[in-house]
Amino acid sequence: AAGEQSGGGRVLLAAPRGYCAGVDRAVIAVEKALEHYGEPVYVRKEIVHNKHVVATLSSRGAVFVDETDEVPEGATVIFSAHGVSPAVHEAAAQRQLKTIDATCPLVTKVHKEAVRFAKDDYDILLVGHDGHEEVEGTAGEAPRHVQLVDGPESVDSVTVRDPEKVVWLSQTTLSVDETMQTVERLRERFPTLQDPPSDDICYATQNRQVAVKKIAPSCDLLLVVGSANSSNSVRLVEVGLQHGAAAAYRVDHAGEADEAWLDGVRTVGVTSGASVPEILVRGLLTWLAERGFGDVEEVRTASEDLLFSLPRELRADLKTSS
Ligand code: SF4
Repeated sequence: AAGEQSGGGRVLLAAPRGYCAGVDRAVIAVEKALEHYGEPVYVRKEIVHNKHVVATLSSRGAVFVDETDEVPEGATVIFSAHGVSPAVHEAAAQRQLKTIDATCPLVTKVHKEAVRFAKDDYDILLVGHDGHEEVEGTAGEAPRHVQLVDGPESVDSVTVRDPEKVVWLSQTTLSVDETMQTVERLRERFPTLQDPPSDDICYATQNRQVAVKKIAPSCDLLLVVGSANSSNSVRLVEVGLQHGAAAAYRVDHAGEADEAWLDGVRTVGVTSGASVPEILVRGLLTWLAERGFGDVEEVRTASEDLLFSLPRELRADLKTSS
């Protein structure tokens, strides 16, 4: 079996991979809040969609809840990187919660676009995945103007008030190619469809997909580290398969990888979603090395140096105490 091979296989390690600026900021926000206010610190929804991150922060005193009504009155609650609708802000205010908003600034940008186009009375076609928290938050900014378009197949059922006054926006973590297909079909129906003022699919999502496209044609197997509810991680598996990886699997960590996948494999591609700590990738590389895949080549298609400052409310509290 592949497990007995030595030195035969190689690994192509995609870069960029892993943490984006929005995830980094959100995770640090919870860590700093725990240090500064002490436990418990409540977090509405998973701060980022990664099991390991959520488990680690839980063990340090973060309490993850589904809704603000589970947070004791007057306590501190952090909103996740995926963003929340105005209704959630109101519910928190009613319970007199202290809120720290860790919404990624690139998600906030899309919220603002939704507000602006709703104000101009556009029909807003939000391309995204039904039920994803980010989509709920963005749609909640203008519920009467936004309708969800979940992939190219959903285009036919879209109805608008005025076909001349329609704009599309999107979730930040979609497949770039599939989104373009959806938009093309929308444009066939609504030729004057307006584009978002700038890309809604964020830089991190785009960069990770470009890197995977580059390595995929050489990969007999592609392994994507990421959690099942992480949209951008799941997209990396799809993009890899579409661009020539013979097989592709998502794993939360090395423990989920299956030796049988290595049978007959010479080249393994490895990448990770935007919410995945590098330690999990290292664990997978060790697992691969133990099975004869110790020759690792990093293939980089872009460099990233974006950093976001911490949420405003938190910065203010950290400053007054120092
Ligand atoms: Fe922000 Fe993009 Fe990261 Fe989401 S994936 S948190 S939008 S940078």
